[in-house]
Amino acid sequence: MVVTKAAPSDAARIATPDVVSRVSASRLIGRALLLRCPNCGGGKLFASFFTLKNECPTCGLRIERGESDYFVGAYLFNLIAVELILFFCVCGFVFITWPDVPWDLLTYVTAALMLAGCLLCYPFAKTTWLAVDLAIRPLSDEELRWHRAGGDIGDRELPHV
Ligand SMILES: [Zn+2]
Repeated sequence: MVVTKAAPSDAARIATPDVVSRVSASRLIGRALLLRCPNCGGGKLFASFFTLKNECPTCGLRIERGESDYFVGAYLFNLIAVELILFFCVCGFVFITWPDVPWDLLTYVTAALMLAGCLLCYPFAKTTWLAVDLAIRPLSDEELRWHRAGGDIGDRELPHV
């Protein structure tokens, strides 16, 4: 049995046709890098720079796909992205300044960039992780209806869980 928990204000959106994306992985990731919903391309996913809304205001996809530990993958994405960016920046800086590399300056600047990079890349990591997950586990019409109805993880068997 499906339990419907949608608020009356959600009735209009739930009555709209399903918006299940059938686009390529590159398009999903492109939308994510623009901080848009990878599924539908809709915007306004963030309440603030660091706070994602619970669901896409356009298509109704719950951003965490109903899973409490969903964004562990986003943290991994964030770490990898920042490490790669810094790796190439440091290598370029060492190459340009060789043999008189200011190692002390490089150490302090790198530490500061590491912290700033983690903060700046954080929202991109979250949307990109959602895009990669949608590419691996595509959203079905059934799952989207489940998201829109506000279903709990134990409500029913879903192929994505
Ligand atoms: Zn959407």
